[in-house]
Amino acid sequence: MLSPPGYVTDALSRLEAAGYEACLVGGCVRDSLRGETPQDWDIATSALPQQTIQVFASLPVIPTGLRHGTVTVLVEGHPLEITTYRIDGSYTDGRHPDGVTFTSRLEEDLARRDFTVNALAWNPRLGLVDLYGGQKDLEDRILRCVGEPTRRFEEDALRILRGLRFAATLNLRVEPATWQAMMDCRQLLDRVARERISAELRKLLLGESTGEILERAAPILGVFLPEILPMVGLDQHNPHHLWDVWGHTCQAIQLAPKDSIVREALLFHDIGKPPCFTLDEQGTGHFYGHAQVSAAMAETILTRLRWEQEAIHQITTLIQWHMAQIPPTRPVVRRWLNRLGEENFRRLLAVRQADLGASAPSPQGQEEVARLRELLEEVLAEGLCFSRKDLAVTGRDLLALGCPPGPAVGELLAFLLEEVLSERQPNRRDILLDLARTQLDGKSL
Ligand code: ATP
Ligand code: MG
Repeated sequence: MLSPPGYVTDALSRLEAAGYEACLVGGCVRDSLRGETPQDWDIATSALPQQTIQVFASLPVIPTGLRHGTVTVLVEGHPLEITTYRIDGSYTDGRHPDGVTFTSRLEEDLARRDFTVNALAWNPRLGLVDLYGGQKDLEDRILRCVGEPTRRFEEDALRILRGLRFAATLNLRVEPATWQAMMDCRQLLDRVARERISAELRKLLLGESTGEILERAAPILGVFLPEILPMVGLDQHNPHHLWDVWGHTCQAIQLAPKDSIVREALLFHDIGKPPCFTLDEQGTGHFYGHAQVSAAMAETILTRLRWEQEAIHQITTLIQWHMAQIPPTRPVVRRWLNRLGEENFRRLLAVRQADLGASAPSPQGQEEVARLRELLEEVLAEGLCFSRKDLAVTGRDLLALGCPPGPAVGELLAFLLEEVLSERQPNRRDILLDLARTQLDGKSL
Protein backbone atom coordinates (compact mmCIF):
# COMPACT_ATOMS: atom_id res chain seq x y z
CA MET A 1 0.00 0.00 0.00
CA LEU A 2 3.00 2.30 0.31
CA SER A 3 5.07 2.57 -2.82
CA PRO A 4 8.28 4.37 -1.99
CA PRO A 5 10.84 4.87 -4.77
CA GLY A 6 13.46 2.16 -5.33
CA TYR A 7 16.32 3.97 -3.58
CA VAL A 8 14.21 4.13 -0.40
CA THR A 9 13.30 0.42 -0.38
CA ASP A 10 16.96 -0.34 -1.16
CA ALA A 11 18.05 1.56 1.92
CA LEU A 12 15.45 -0.24 4.07
CA SER A 13 16.57 -3.65 2.83
CA ARG A 14 20.26 -2.89 3.34
CA LEU A 15 19.61 -2.11 6.99
CA GLU A 16 17.39 -5.14 7.46
CA ALA A 17 19.86 -7.41 5.66
CA ALA A 18 22.48 -6.28 8.19
CA GLY A 19 20.20 -7.50 10.99
CA TYR A 20 18.62 -4.22 12.05
CA GLU A 21 14.99 -3.12 11.87
CA ALA A 22 14.23 -0.14 9.61
CA CYS A 23 10.94 1.63 8.80
CA LEU A 24 9.58 4.68 7.12
CA VAL A 25 8.10 6.98 9.77
CA GLY A 26 6.19 10.21 10.33
CA GLY A 27 5.14 12.57 7.56
CA CYS A 28 5.94 10.25 4.65
CA VAL A 29 3.71 7.45 5.92
CA ARG A 30 0.94 9.91 6.78
CA ASP A 31 1.09 11.61 3.39
CA SER A 32 1.20 8.29 1.51
CA LEU A 33 -1.97 7.16 3.31
CA ARG A 34 -3.58 10.44 2.29
CA GLY A 35 -2.74 9.63 -1.31
CA GLU A 36 -0.14 12.37 -1.59
CA THR A 37 3.48 12.10 -2.65
CA PRO A 38 5.69 12.80 0.38
CA GLN A 39 8.32 15.53 0.18
CA ASP A 40 10.93 13.37 1.83
CA TRP A 41 11.18 9.79 3.05
CA ASP A 42 12.44 9.61 6.62
CA ILE A 43 13.77 6.30 7.91
CA ALA A 44 13.95 5.21 11.55
CA THR A 45 16.06 2.25 12.55
CA SER A 46 17.22 0.15 15.46
CA ALA A 47 20.81 0.54 14.18
CA LEU A 48 22.95 2.98 16.17
CA PRO A 49 24.33 5.92 14.15
CA GLN A 50 27.78 4.33 13.85
CA GLN A 51 26.19 1.08 12.70
CA THR A 52 24.16 2.96 10.07
CA ILE A 53 27.35 4.59 8.85
CA GLN A 54 28.93 1.12 8.52
CA VAL A 55 25.96 -0.29 6.62
CA PHE A 56 26.27 2.54 4.10
CA ALA A 57 30.07 2.63 4.11
CA SER A 58 30.15 2.45 0.30
CA LEU A 59 27.99 5.59 -0.06
CA PRO A 60 28.53 9.25 0.83
CA VAL A 61 27.37 9.76 4.42
CA ILE A 62 26.86 13.09 6.15
CA PRO A 63 26.67 12.92 9.94
CA THR A 64 23.97 15.65 10.08
CA GLY A 65 22.64 15.34 13.58
CA LEU A 66 24.66 12.62 15.21
CA ARG A 67 23.76 13.86 18.69
CA HIS A 68 20.10 13.22 17.91
CA GLY A 69 20.95 10.02 16.05
CA THR A 70 20.47 11.31 12.52
CA VAL A 71 22.70 10.37 9.61
CA THR A 72 22.09 11.54 6.05
CA VAL A 73 23.03 9.05 3.34
CA LEU A 74 23.20 9.92 -0.34
CA VAL A 75 21.48 7.02 -2.08
CA GLU A 76 21.55 7.26 -5.87
CA GLY A 77 22.04 10.98 -5.42
CA HIS A 78 19.03 11.39 -3.09
CA PRO A 79 19.66 12.51 0.51
CA LEU A 80 17.92 10.14 2.94
CA GLU A 81 17.67 10.90 6.66
CA ILE A 82 18.14 7.84 8.81
CA THR A 83 17.51 8.29 12.53
CA THR A 84 18.08 5.79 15.31
CA TYR A 85 14.96 4.89 17.33
CA ARG A 86 15.04 7.09 20.40
CA ILE A 87 13.33 8.01 23.61
CA ASP A 88 13.33 11.69 24.50
CA GLY A 89 14.35 12.35 28.09
CA SER A 90 12.27 14.66 30.28
CA TYR A 91 11.76 18.26 29.17
CA THR A 92 12.63 20.42 32.15
CA ASP A 93 12.73 23.61 30.07
CA GLY A 94 9.66 22.82 27.94
CA ARG A 95 11.81 23.12 24.83
CA HIS A 96 14.52 20.51 24.53
CA PRO A 97 14.65 17.02 25.89
CA ASP A 98 17.33 16.90 28.59
CA GLY A 99 18.88 13.94 26.88
CA VAL A 100 18.25 11.56 24.05
CA THR A 101 18.42 7.84 24.67
CA PHE A 102 18.64 5.40 21.79
CA THR A 103 16.46 2.31 21.87
CA SER A 104 16.01 -0.77 19.71
CA ARG A 105 12.22 -0.72 20.16
CA LEU A 106 10.04 0.95 17.55
CA GLU A 107 7.13 1.29 20.04
CA GLU A 108 9.24 3.59 22.19
CA ASP A 109 10.18 5.75 19.23
CA LEU A 110 6.53 6.09 18.17
CA ALA A 111 5.45 7.01 21.70
CA ARG A 112 7.56 10.20 21.69
CA ARG A 113 5.89 11.52 18.52
CA ASP A 114 3.42 14.37 18.75
CA PHE A 115 0.17 13.38 16.98
CA THR A 116 -1.40 10.03 16.13
CA VAL A 117 -1.29 10.81 12.40
CA ASN A 118 2.47 11.40 12.74
CA ALA A 119 3.11 8.26 14.80
CA LEU A 120 2.80 5.80 11.92
CA ALA A 121 5.55 3.53 10.66
CA TRP A 122 5.81 1.16 7.69
CA ASN A 123 8.13 -1.31 6.09
CA PRO A 124 7.53 -4.10 3.55
CA ARG A 125 8.02 -6.81 6.18
CA LEU A 126 5.92 -5.36 9.04
CA GLY A 127 3.36 -3.50 6.95
CA LEU A 128 1.74 -0.54 8.70
CA VAL A 129 2.60 -0.11 12.37
CA ASP A 130 -0.16 1.99 13.88
CA LEU A 131 -0.20 1.81 17.68
CA TYR A 132 -2.31 4.91 18.33
CA GLY A 133 -5.11 4.70 15.75
CA GLY A 134 -3.46 7.22 13.43
CA GLN A 135 -4.92 5.66 10.29
CA LYS A 136 -8.48 5.88 11.63
CA ASP A 137 -7.91 9.45 12.78
CA LEU A 138 -6.68 10.29 9.30
CA GLU A 139 -9.81 8.72 7.79
CA ASP A 140 -12.05 10.54 10.27
CA ARG A 141 -9.99 13.70 9.76
CA ILE A 142 -9.08 14.12 13.40
CA LEU A 143 -5.93 15.56 14.95
CA ARG A 144 -5.17 13.99 18.32
CA CYS A 145 -2.14 13.89 20.59
CA VAL A 146 -0.26 10.69 21.26
CA GLY A 147 -0.90 10.20 24.97
CA GLU A 148 -2.10 12.81 27.44
CA PRO A 149 -2.28 16.16 25.56
CA THR A 150 -1.46 18.47 28.47
CA ARG A 151 1.68 16.49 29.28
CA ARG A 152 2.75 16.45 25.66
CA PHE A 153 2.37 20.24 25.34
CA GLU A 154 4.15 20.79 28.64
CA GLU A 155 7.10 18.78 27.30
CA ASP A 156 7.31 20.89 24.16
CA ALA A 157 4.92 23.80 23.69
CA LEU A 158 5.85 24.15 20.03
CA ARG A 159 3.59 21.13 19.51
CA ILE A 160 0.61 23.46 20.08
CA LEU A 161 1.56 25.44 17.02
CA ARG A 162 2.48 22.29 15.09
CA GLY A 163 -1.00 21.02 15.91
CA LEU A 164 -2.62 24.14 14.46
CA ARG A 165 -0.36 23.76 11.43
CA PHE A 166 -1.32 20.13 10.80
CA ALA A 167 -5.02 20.89 11.36
CA ALA A 168 -4.82 23.69 8.78
CA THR A 169 -2.64 22.00 6.17
CA LEU A 170 -4.21 18.52 6.39
CA ASN A 171 -7.71 19.88 6.96
CA LEU A 172 -8.22 18.03 10.25
CA ARG A 173 -10.54 18.78 13.14
CA VAL A 174 -8.73 19.12 16.45
CA GLU A 175 -10.11 16.54 18.88
CA PRO A 176 -11.73 18.36 21.88
CA ALA A 177 -9.33 17.22 24.62
CA THR A 178 -6.35 18.12 22.42
CA TRP A 179 -7.90 21.53 21.70
CA GLN A 180 -8.60 22.18 25.37
CA ALA A 181 -4.99 21.34 26.24
CA MET A 182 -3.74 23.66 23.50
CA MET A 183 -5.72 26.48 25.09
CA ASP A 184 -4.72 25.57 28.65
CA CYS A 185 -0.99 25.30 27.84
CA ARG A 186 -0.74 28.21 25.40
CA GLN A 187 1.21 30.47 27.76
CA LEU A 188 4.13 28.00 27.60
CA LEU A 189 4.71 29.17 24.03
CA ASP A 190 6.49 32.23 25.41
CA ARG A 191 9.40 29.95 26.34
CA VAL A 192 9.82 28.61 22.81
CA ALA A 193 12.58 30.03 20.59
CA ARG A 194 11.28 32.68 18.18
CA GLU A 195 12.83 30.95 15.17
CA ARG A 196 10.91 27.74 15.88
CA ILE A 197 7.67 29.71 16.26
CA SER A 198 8.25 31.63 13.03
CA ALA A 199 8.94 28.47 11.04
CA GLU A 200 5.67 26.91 12.20
CA LEU A 201 3.65 30.11 11.78
CA ARG A 202 4.84 30.35 8.20
CA LYS A 203 3.71 26.80 7.45
CA LEU A 204 0.43 27.32 9.31
CA LEU A 205 -0.42 30.28 7.09
CA LEU A 206 -0.17 28.14 3.96
CA GLY A 207 -2.87 25.64 4.93
CA GLU A 208 -6.17 24.65 3.33
CA SER A 209 -8.29 25.71 6.30
CA THR A 210 -5.93 28.29 7.81
CA GLY A 211 -8.61 30.98 8.11
CA GLU A 212 -10.93 28.79 10.16
CA ILE A 213 -8.15 27.61 12.45
CA LEU A 214 -6.74 31.09 13.00
CA GLU A 215 -10.14 32.46 13.89
CA ARG A 216 -10.51 30.00 16.77
CA ALA A 217 -6.85 30.15 17.75
CA ALA A 218 -6.58 33.90 18.45
CA PRO A 219 -5.83 33.39 22.18
CA ILE A 220 -2.96 31.04 21.24
CA LEU A 221 -1.47 33.36 18.63
CA GLY A 222 -1.93 36.22 21.07
CA VAL A 223 0.83 34.75 23.26
CA PHE A 224 3.50 35.74 20.74
CA LEU A 225 1.40 38.24 18.72
CA PRO A 226 -0.37 40.23 21.46
CA GLU A 227 -1.08 42.96 18.89
CA ILE A 228 -3.82 40.83 17.31
CA LEU A 229 -5.90 40.56 20.48
CA PRO A 230 -7.59 43.99 20.20
CA MET A 231 -8.73 43.00 16.67
CA VAL A 232 -10.85 40.20 18.08
CA GLY A 233 -14.45 41.37 18.49
CA LEU A 234 -13.70 44.90 17.27
CA ASP A 235 -16.99 45.91 15.63
CA GLN A 236 -16.15 48.10 12.63
CA HIS A 237 -19.43 50.08 12.72
CA ASN A 238 -19.18 50.32 8.98
CA PRO A 239 -21.52 49.03 6.25
CA HIS A 240 -18.51 47.84 4.19
CA HIS A 241 -17.63 45.31 6.85
CA LEU A 242 -19.69 42.36 7.99
CA TRP A 243 -17.15 40.83 10.36
CA ASP A 244 -15.08 42.06 13.26
CA VAL A 245 -11.50 42.93 12.31
CA TRP A 246 -10.05 39.54 13.27
CA GLY A 247 -12.87 37.62 11.54
CA HIS A 248 -12.30 39.70 8.41
CA THR A 249 -8.54 39.06 8.55
CA CYS A 250 -9.01 35.29 8.85
CA GLN A 251 -11.58 35.24 6.08
CA ALA A 252 -9.24 37.19 3.78
CA ILE A 253 -6.38 34.73 4.45
CA GLN A 254 -8.72 31.83 3.72
CA LEU A 255 -9.61 33.36 0.33
CA ALA A 256 -6.03 34.20 -0.66
CA PRO A 257 -3.72 32.08 -2.82
CA LYS A 258 -1.11 30.03 -0.94
CA ASP A 259 1.68 32.57 -1.30
CA SER A 260 3.62 33.28 1.90
CA ILE A 261 4.10 36.98 1.29
CA VAL A 262 0.43 37.54 0.36
CA ARG A 263 -0.88 35.65 3.38
CA GLU A 264 1.61 37.24 5.78
CA ALA A 265 0.62 40.68 4.46
CA LEU A 266 -3.06 39.82 4.99
CA LEU A 267 -2.40 38.61 8.54
CA PHE A 268 -1.19 42.11 9.45
CA HIS A 269 -2.98 44.33 6.92
CA ASP A 270 -5.51 45.63 9.44
CA ILE A 271 -3.53 45.18 12.65
CA GLY A 272 -3.32 48.99 12.91
CA LYS A 273 -7.12 49.32 12.92
CA PRO A 274 -7.65 49.14 16.69
CA PRO A 275 -5.34 52.12 17.44
CA CYS A 276 -6.79 54.10 14.48
CA PHE A 277 -10.48 53.56 15.26
CA THR A 278 -12.77 56.61 15.42
CA LEU A 279 -16.58 56.90 15.40
CA ASP A 280 -18.16 59.85 13.56
CA GLU A 281 -21.35 61.70 14.56
CA GLN A 282 -23.47 59.33 12.46
CA GLY A 283 -22.05 56.40 14.39
CA THR A 284 -19.96 55.13 11.47
CA GLY A 285 -16.52 53.72 12.23
CA HIS A 286 -13.36 54.96 10.46
CA PHE A 287 -9.74 53.89 10.55
CA TYR A 288 -7.91 56.79 8.97
CA GLY A 289 -4.25 56.08 8.27
CA HIS A 290 -4.48 52.45 9.33
CA ALA A 291 -2.50 51.14 6.32
CA GLN A 292 0.61 53.04 7.42
CA VAL A 293 0.14 52.13 11.07
CA SER A 294 -0.39 48.45 10.15
CA ALA A 295 2.78 48.47 8.03
CA ALA A 296 4.80 49.96 10.88
CA MET A 297 3.40 47.46 13.39
CA ALA A 298 4.06 44.56 11.01
CA GLU A 299 7.66 45.68 10.68
CA THR A 300 8.13 45.66 14.47
CA ILE A 301 6.43 42.28 14.86
CA LEU A 302 8.22 40.56 11.99
CA THR A 303 11.59 41.88 13.14
CA ARG A 304 10.83 40.50 16.60
CA LEU A 305 9.97 37.14 15.04
CA ARG A 306 13.28 37.16 13.12
CA TRP A 307 11.70 37.19 9.67
CA GLU A 308 14.16 37.83 6.81
CA GLN A 309 14.73 41.50 5.96
CA GLU A 310 13.73 41.09 2.31
CA ALA A 311 10.43 39.40 3.20
CA ILE A 312 9.66 42.10 5.78
CA HIS A 313 10.19 44.72 3.12
CA GLN A 314 7.85 43.00 0.66
CA ILE A 315 5.17 42.35 3.26
CA THR A 316 5.15 45.88 4.65
CA THR A 317 5.09 47.33 1.13
CA LEU A 318 1.93 45.37 0.36
CA ILE A 319 0.34 46.44 3.64
CA GLN A 320 1.24 50.06 3.09
CA TRP A 321 -0.45 50.10 -0.35
CA HIS A 322 -3.38 47.81 0.36
CA MET A 323 -5.83 50.73 0.42
CA ALA A 324 -4.32 52.68 -2.51
CA GLN A 325 -6.61 53.89 -5.27
CA ILE A 326 -5.48 52.14 -8.46
CA PRO A 327 -7.69 53.24 -11.37
CA PRO A 328 -7.62 50.55 -14.08
CA THR A 329 -5.77 52.32 -16.89
CA ARG A 330 -2.61 51.34 -18.72
CA PRO A 331 -0.44 54.24 -17.52
CA VAL A 332 -1.44 53.52 -13.93
CA VAL A 333 -0.64 49.82 -14.31
CA ARG A 334 2.75 50.67 -15.82
CA ARG A 335 3.53 53.05 -12.99
CA TRP A 336 2.67 50.39 -10.38
CA LEU A 337 4.76 47.83 -12.21
CA ASN A 338 7.58 50.31 -12.09
CA ARG A 339 7.08 50.87 -8.38
CA LEU A 340 6.60 47.27 -7.19
CA GLY A 341 7.86 45.00 -9.97
CA GLU A 342 5.70 42.35 -11.59
CA GLU A 343 5.69 39.78 -8.80
CA ASN A 344 4.75 42.16 -6.03
CA PHE A 345 2.18 44.00 -8.11
CA ARG A 346 0.50 40.63 -8.74
CA ARG A 347 0.63 40.03 -5.01
CA LEU A 348 -0.91 43.43 -4.29
CA LEU A 349 -3.82 42.51 -6.55
CA ALA A 350 -4.18 39.19 -4.72
CA VAL A 351 -4.23 41.04 -1.38
CA ARG A 352 -6.87 43.40 -2.79
CA GLN A 353 -9.05 40.62 -4.04
CA ALA A 354 -8.95 38.70 -0.76
CA ASP A 355 -9.56 41.89 1.25
CA LEU A 356 -12.60 42.74 -0.89
CA GLY A 357 -13.85 39.16 -0.83
CA ALA A 358 -13.88 39.25 2.96
CA SER A 359 -15.85 42.53 3.10
CA ALA A 360 -19.45 43.37 2.20
CA PRO A 361 -20.06 42.32 -1.44
CA SER A 362 -18.51 44.83 -3.81
CA PRO A 363 -18.94 43.76 -7.46
CA GLN A 364 -17.41 47.03 -8.57
CA GLY A 365 -14.24 46.46 -6.56
CA GLN A 366 -13.88 42.91 -7.86
CA GLU A 367 -14.37 44.08 -11.45
CA GLU A 368 -11.68 46.67 -10.93
CA VAL A 369 -9.19 44.03 -9.78
CA ALA A 370 -10.11 41.83 -12.75
CA ARG A 371 -9.60 44.75 -15.12
CA LEU A 372 -6.23 45.58 -13.53
CA ARG A 373 -5.15 41.97 -14.08
CA GLU A 374 -6.15 42.14 -17.75
CA LEU A 375 -4.22 45.36 -18.21
CA LEU A 376 -1.23 43.87 -16.42
CA GLU A 377 -1.19 40.91 -18.83
CA GLU A 378 -1.57 43.26 -21.79
CA VAL A 379 1.27 45.51 -20.74
CA LEU A 380 3.54 42.54 -20.04
CA ALA A 381 2.61 40.76 -23.29
CA GLU A 382 3.48 43.84 -25.30
CA GLY A 383 6.79 44.04 -23.47
CA LEU A 384 6.05 47.69 -22.76
CA CYS A 385 8.76 49.49 -20.92
CA PHE A 386 8.11 49.99 -17.24
CA SER A 387 11.41 50.54 -15.52
CA ARG A 388 14.46 52.65 -16.09
CA LYS A 389 16.50 49.71 -17.30
CA ASP A 390 13.95 49.02 -20.05
CA LEU A 391 14.14 52.56 -21.36
CA ALA A 392 15.44 52.83 -24.95
CA VAL A 393 18.08 55.33 -23.84
CA THR A 394 20.70 55.05 -21.10
CA GLY A 395 22.59 57.45 -18.88
CA ARG A 396 25.54 57.10 -21.22
CA ASP A 397 23.42 58.37 -24.15
CA LEU A 398 22.47 61.41 -22.11
CA LEU A 399 26.10 62.17 -21.23
CA ALA A 400 26.93 61.91 -24.94
CA LEU A 401 24.26 64.55 -25.59
CA GLY A 402 26.08 66.86 -23.20
CA CYS A 403 24.09 66.26 -20.03
CA PRO A 404 26.32 67.24 -17.05
CA PRO A 405 27.47 64.18 -15.06
CA GLY A 406 25.87 63.73 -11.64
CA PRO A 407 22.27 63.94 -10.44
CA ALA A 408 21.10 65.62 -13.65
CA VAL A 409 21.44 62.27 -15.49
CA GLY A 410 19.10 60.51 -13.06
CA GLU A 411 16.61 63.36 -13.18
CA LEU A 412 16.51 63.36 -16.94
CA LEU A 413 16.09 59.57 -17.06
CA ALA A 414 13.24 59.82 -14.55
CA PHE A 415 11.59 62.47 -16.71
CA LEU A 416 11.88 60.28 -19.83
CA LEU A 417 10.55 57.27 -17.97
CA GLU A 418 7.54 59.24 -16.79
CA GLU A 419 6.84 60.35 -20.38
CA VAL A 420 6.88 56.71 -21.49
CA LEU A 421 4.90 55.36 -18.53
CA SER A 422 2.17 57.91 -19.06
CA GLU A 423 2.14 56.92 -22.73
CA ARG A 424 2.76 60.49 -23.84
CA GLN A 425 5.80 59.16 -25.74
CA PRO A 426 6.63 55.73 -27.10
CA ASN A 427 9.75 53.98 -25.85
CA ARG A 428 11.72 54.78 -28.99
CA ARG A 429 15.36 55.74 -28.94
CA ASP A 430 15.19 58.49 -31.61
CA ILE A 431 12.16 60.14 -30.02
CA LEU A 432 13.56 59.99 -26.49
CA LEU A 433 16.93 61.36 -27.62
CA ASP A 434 15.13 64.28 -29.28
CA LEU A 435 13.13 64.86 -26.16
CA ALA A 436 16.28 64.75 -24.03
CA ARG A 437 17.97 67.23 -26.35
CA THR A 438 15.02 69.63 -26.03
CA GLN A 439 15.14 69.32 -22.26
CA LEU A 440 18.89 69.97 -22.16
CA ASP A 441 18.54 72.96 -24.49
CA GLY A 442 15.71 74.33 -22.37
CA LYS A 443 17.85 74.07 -19.24
CA SER A 444 20.88 75.77 -20.76
CA LEU A 445 18.86 78.75 -22.01
P1 ATP B 1 6.34 17.85 7.03
O1 ATP B 1 5.54 17.41 5.88
O2 ATP B 1 6.10 19.26 7.41
O3 ATP B 1 7.81 17.53 6.95
P2 ATP B 1 6.40 15.98 9.18
O4 ATP B 1 5.34 15.20 9.87
O5 ATP B 1 7.45 15.22 8.43
O6 ATP B 1 5.71 17.02 8.25
P3 ATP B 1 8.56 17.09 10.66
O7 ATP B 1 8.63 18.37 11.42
O8 ATP B 1 9.45 16.89 9.49
O9 ATP B 1 7.04 16.89 10.27
O10 ATP B 1 8.82 15.93 11.73
C1 ATP B 1 8.94 14.56 11.38
C2 ATP B 1 8.27 13.68 12.42
O11 ATP B 1 8.95 13.82 13.67
C3 ATP B 1 6.81 14.05 12.71
O12 ATP B 1 5.94 13.41 11.83
C4 ATP B 1 6.66 13.62 14.14
O13 ATP B 1 6.42 12.23 14.20
C5 ATP B 1 8.01 13.87 14.75
N1 ATP B 1 8.15 15.19 15.40
C6 ATP B 1 8.70 16.31 14.86
N2 ATP B 1 8.71 17.32 15.73
C7 ATP B 1 8.17 16.85 16.87
C8 ATP B 1 7.92 17.41 18.16
N3 ATP B 1 8.20 18.68 18.43
N4 ATP B 1 7.38 16.60 19.09
C9 ATP B 1 7.08 15.30 18.82
N5 ATP B 1 7.27 14.73 17.64
C10 ATP B 1 7.82 15.48 16.67
MG1 MG C 1 9.25 16.00 7.43
